[in-house]
Amino acid sequence: TESLTVAALAKKLHREPTEVVKKLFMVGVMATVNQELDKDTIELICEDYGVEVEEEILVDSTDLETYFDEEVEAGKMIERPAVVTIMGHVDHGKTTLLDSIRKTKVTAGEAGGITQHIGAYQIDNDGKKITFLDTPGHAAFTTMRARGAKVTDITILVVAADDGVMPQTVEAINHAKAAEVPIIIAVNKMDKQAANPDRVMQELTEHGLVSEAWGGDTIFVPVSALNGDGIDNLLEMIGLVSEVEELKADPTRRAMGTVIEAELDKGRGSVATLLVQDGTLRVGDPIVVGNTFGRVRAMVNDIGRRVKEAGPSTPVEITGLNDVPLAGDRFVVFEDEKTARSIGESRAQQALQAQRGEKTRVSLDNLFEQM
Ligand code: GDP
Ligand code: MG
Repeated sequence: TESLTVAALAKKLHREPTEVVKKLFMVGVMATVNQELDKDTIELICEDYGVEVEEEILVDSTDLETYFDEEVEAGKMIERPAVVTIMGHVDHGKTTLLDSIRKTKVTAGEAGGITQHIGAYQIDNDGKKITFLDTPGHAAFTTMRARGAKVTDITILVVAADDGVMPQTVEAINHAKAAEVPIIIAVNKMDKQAANPDRVMQELTEHGLVSEAWGGDTIFVPVSALNGDGIDNLLEMIGLVSEVEELKADPTRRAMGTVIEAELDKGRGSVATLLVQDGTLRVGDPIVVGNTFGRVRAMVNDIGRRVKEAGPSTPVEITGLNDVPLAGDRFVVFEDEKTARSIGESRAQQALQAQRGEKTRVSLDNLFEQM
């Protein structure tokens, strides 16, 4: 809740409830002692008493999701690259398509840099960047959706033209629909003798995905992930859909986003691939990641280069966390290490208690007590 009764507020301010009622009256709010006040009114009264109200007082500061909802200035929002996930039935060509896209767009100079695999990569398509999540689409979607984290802007549904709609194709459609993510169909393996794109179109119609050619609004792109045919067209369609979606972010905000994958490395300790979704992440930033925390020690981009900062829609691998987070965990940067540590430790504690089945709700009163 983001509200308090007049009596409760008076108690916090060490004033008589009747005095607060009077104060409210003075600012034009008629209220009784037991009346609930909204956040704005509470702020107004506190201001009047010269008490500074921090946002964190009224919201659960350990709930990382609340930082994603922080208000941003519209004027600071700029276009950001689309984050794309590839899904589809096993063997329909997801991995081949991801490889093929990467190969066509990574310049010769950069190619040598791809020594490691960070679970996501970014390409430059005619001056417009696109981020591809290189994780198995289903796993990414299910864990991330289970945690309520939205990371994907567009889903490419790969359907082999010689095989048609299969169980995992349907599963992918359901995931994308539930997450309200636009779907582009890549009709793959068009180079095969047995390719039958009409059958794919027909079968997908039964799932509400009707091609533009048939009067619907779903984009179908025939491709061959194997020989690269149609890839440029597919990238162009991604560009079109991104424009329609008007994807924006504020690079001046505190950085926040989602864990794509994480593991414990023998030499480097906890290593996590993060997708920065808003703000700019910098080396040295105090950070809370899931139920762990730390300071960004080193940051490596998708082609294995060390970077000092990463803006919206950029995947990076970081070290410096004190524990290993989980895929789908959210991360948020804080102003100082002390805050990050305190929030991280509370979250770890809450997770531990939740595991033990205890009730862990932090009440508003507790939060006020901590002031
Ligand atoms: P995934 O399970 O969806 O990741 O599928 P893969 O990318 O591993 O592809 C499965 C098989 O299909 C592999 O043997 C690929 O070489 C083959 N394959 C993928 N795309 C194409 C294509 O466009 N044409 C042909 N002929 N084979 C393809
Ligand atoms: Mg694969």
